[in-house]
Amino acid sequence: MAEPFFIDKGECISCGSCAEICPECFSFKDDMSPAAVISFDCEVDLIEETMESCPAQCIHWKDDDELLD
Ligand code: SF4
Repeated sequence: MAEPFFIDKGECISCGSCAEICPECFSFKDDMSPAAVISFDCEVDLIEETMESCPAQCIHWKDDDELLD
């Protein structure tokens, strides 16, 4: 199971990429609302792939929280 991570929803541009890569952990509705984290139950590699693919770079590990302040 991956470590906790979160979406900085203010930065999300609602592209849906994260949910395409890892539908177990991300939910996305095609209505321009931000994606949501629904589970941490997948491989770390998959979450890293969503982070690298996110065009807004707004998926972060919880430990990176302070970097947003
Ligand atoms: S990949 Fe990033 S910008 Fe796209 S829906 Fe997911 S969190 Fe939002």
